Amino acid sequence: AASSAAASSAAPSAPAARDGHRNPSSVRVLVNKRNPLQPADWAPADLTVPDIRSTRDGLTLRAEAATAAEALFAAAAADGVDLSLVSAYRSYSYQQGTYAGWVQQHGRAGADRISARPGHSEHQTGLAMDVGAADAACTLEQCFGDTPEGAWVARHAAAHGWIVRYPAGAEDVTGYSPEPWHLRYVGTPAAADVVRSGGVLETAWGFAPAPGY
Ligand SMILES: [Zn+2]
Repeated sequence: AASSAAASSAAPSAPAARDGHRNPSSVRVLVNKRNPLQPADWAPADLTVPDIRSTRDGLTLRAEAATAAEALFAAAAADGVDLSLVSAYRSYSYQQGTYAGWVQQHGRAGADRISARPGHSEHQTGLAMDVGAADAACTLEQCFGDTPEGAWVARHAAAHGWIVRYPAGAEDVTGYSPEPWHLRYVGTPAAADVVRSGGVLETAWGFAPAPGY
């Protein structure tokens, strides 16, 4: 197992470079516990406030993701499903504070299951958002996946370029317990590819599992 893991982790470097998976400004960048943003304190240059219902003022996404979020929320509303944006872009320094808070509460191992270390958070790309139900039921909780809003998102996100980034049953690959609320923008063709190949980004893009740092 060790030798095959080493072989598979060496193989993807060429396609990864070609497809922009290591380029922080690409919508196809891969960020996980084994693949930090480079540089670690990278920040997007095109952050904008999407015109959607939000739990807080001033939440931002990169321009392309903001447009895709507006389309996703509009499609949901047309189906009678009202979503709310809970969290979006988070800077390196903001993540430092968030992660430190979880470490204080749960210890380092506990924090690593639910929160990213600074430089390793998808929220720092400006391409990730946490969504909730407008009525706030199950916000940032496992049961969100069982709400009408969570079910709608799981079924329709990919049509608008988003994937549920940390699906159930993939913790040993993604490094995170299931988060039915955390969506990552990759663009519509890439999202369709991810769904077709089983729903896990690392697997779809040929990256080794990243269960830990
Ligand atoms: Zn999130």
